[in-house]
Amino acid sequence: MAINISSLHTLLPFTVDAVYYTRRKSIALSISGKGELIVRVPIGTSDRALVDALMNKRGWITKHQQNAIDSIAKNNRQYLSKEIFYLGDTYKIVVNEDKENCVKVLDNIVYVHHNNKTQPRYVVLGWYHCQAENLISSIVYDYCELLGLRELKISITSAKTRWGSCNYRIKRLNFSWRLIMAPKPVVEYVVLHEIMHLKVPNHSKLFWDELAELCPEYREYKLWLRQNSRLMSLDHSLILGYPS
Ligand SMILES: [Zn+2]
Repeated sequence: MAINISSLHTLLPFTVDAVYYTRRKSIALSISGKGELIVRVPIGTSDRALVDALMNKRGWITKHQQNAIDSIAKNNRQYLSKEIFYLGDTYKIVVNEDKENCVKVLDNIVYVHHNNKTQPRYVVLGWYHCQAENLISSIVYDYCELLGLRELKISITSAKTRWGSCNYRIKRLNFSWRLIMAPKPVVEYVVLHEIMHLKVPNHSKLFWDELAELCPEYREYKLWLRQNSRLMSLDHSLILGYPS
C-alpha cells in the first residue's frame, strides 16, 4: 500500500511531489527542473524507512530544490533599462513573474512581482495609488492637526496635470496618484495648497500670502511641478510590458 503523500508532508520539512514504488533495490531521489522532488522506492519499503531516508537526505533535497527555484526565477526575470519615478528619485525596475502581485523597494531598485494573469504595469499602478493614498492621508492629517481642522475627506484620482482640487462645499480634497512621483516637499505643498482653498477659495494675493506663511518655498515646488509634469506618468517613466 503506497504512502499517502499528504501524510508525508506533515512529517517532512520539504515537499515530496511523487513517490513511485518500483522494482529497484534502493531509494532514489531526483529533483525535476521545476524543483519537484520525485522519489523512487523499492516495493515493500515501510513508511518509516521512507521518512528516515528522506530526512537523512534533507540537506541535499533542500539545496537542489532551491537551485531549481532560483534558476526558474532567473529565467523569468526581466531587466528593463527604463526607470520609475518615486518620491522624486529614479529607481531601476526589475520585473519578476511570481505567484502574487506585489512591489518591493530595496536600495535603488523597485521589484515588481506579478502573476501570469496580471500585467506588471497594473501592479505598479495599484502600488502607486496605494502609496499616494497613504502619504497624502498622513500629510492631510498632520495639516489638520496643525491648523485645527476637522479631518477632511480625500479622494485619489488619476488626473494627469491637475495635481489637486478642493470641493469647498463638501470639504473634500482630491489628489492625483501621480503626485507620488514627486519629492515629498512638493506633495506637501500641493496638499497645503488645497487645504488653504478651504480658507481662500481663489488664487488671490491673500491666498499666496497665507500659503507662504506655512510653505515659504512654494514657488520652487510649483516650478518643479511645471518642469516635471511631463515625466510624471507611468507611460513615460517606464515600459512595463516585456521588452519586445
Ligand atoms: Zn489652487
